[in-house]
Amino acid sequence: MKVTEAFNKKSPALSFEFFPPKTPEQEKHLFEVIGKLNAFRPDFVSVTYGAMGKTREKTFFWVKEIKNRFGLEPVAHLTCVAATRDDIAQQIAELEKLGVENILALRGDPPEGAADFTPPRNGFRLAKELIAFIKEKKPRFCVGAAGFPEGHPNAPGPAADVEYLKQKMAAGAEYVITQLFFDNRHYFDFVGRCEKAGIKAPIIPGLMPITGYHQIKRMTEVCSAKIPEILLKELESHKDDLKAIKQIGTEQAVCQARQLLAAGVPGLHFFVMNQAEPIATILKQLEFQK
Ligand SMILES: Cc1cc2nc3c(=O)[nH]c(=O)nc-3n(C[C@H](O)[C@H](O)[C@H](O)COP(=O)(O)OP(=O)(O)OC[C@H]3O[C@@H](n4cnc5c(N)ncnc54)[C@H](O)[C@@H]3O)c2cc1C
Repeated sequence: MKVTEAFNKKSPALSFEFFPPKTPEQEKHLFEVIGKLNAFRPDFVSVTYGAMGKTREKTFFWVKEIKNRFGLEPVAHLTCVAATRDDIAQQIAELEKLGVENILALRGDPPEGAADFTPPRNGFRLAKELIAFIKEKKPRFCVGAAGFPEGHPNAPGPAADVEYLKQKMAAGAEYVITQLFFDNRHYFDFVGRCEKAGIKAPIIPGLMPITGYHQIKRMTEVCSAKIPEILLKELESHKDDLKAIKQIGTEQAVCQARQLLAAGVPGLHFFVMNQAEPIATILKQLEFQK
């Protein structure tokens, strides 16, 4: 199933994002996590592609397991930062063989600490080139792109950011999943700017429940998402109390999701961080069951 079908239904779509674990213990744990969250019948489940394309085999393994073992619709993330055209052609052929129909096409981040990168010879510099390449080689893939409600950290400004997204849609992307954010006004303003620019595709808000103080500080620094002042103060005053942080994180996510659902968003995409319990608690509080 192409995931865009999930955005045309009466009820909002539900999706989860996992990352491929490193150790056998973590793998066992992820099987359990997916098993538990399967109870919420997500419309699709996506698997990240490690920095500089380092998890290719693991990403493809999980995509296959999600499809065959759990009967869920997988979305494979794919990046071009460290890949040649031939690599990418091979990978999309492999995904097709696995029966995968959906790809989230991304540039990927430069190596840690580097501000920029040199694409491999015969590779791509931007996600829009990757999107166009996938659509040219295998038009039947349903391709999604990343969107940045607070702007991509390296974009010159909000207008350029939306223009770049428009170029990704023109290259063949059919839906957008956003970077995490904690103030819904960023999402609503972003959607407004996209609509004004003529982007009609569904823009799915990406939500990351806070489950640890240091974890969320690190994540928000990497993607330049702002934690609102009041929320930050609350987190700081409980930073060594994991239970309290999780409670604050759950309340924040429920509050954000309620407002987004009330505004009629096409779906909710949760960055699960391979933890079932916070997501299950949030969805139960939202009474969100497919
Ligand atoms: C939902 C989601 C999932 C993600 N999953 C992964 C993952 O699995 N693996 C991973 O490595 N990373 C992942 N990322 C992170 C992503 O790879 C980085 O944010 C990356 O820096 C940008 O990716 P992009 O696809 O938006 O790139 P692009 O759209 O190519 O943008 C890259 C940079 O170029 C600029 N730009 C775009 N178009 C132009 C243009 N025409 N002219 C000049 N500049 C331009 C942009 O402003 C930006 O600064 C994810 C991000 C999101 C939001």
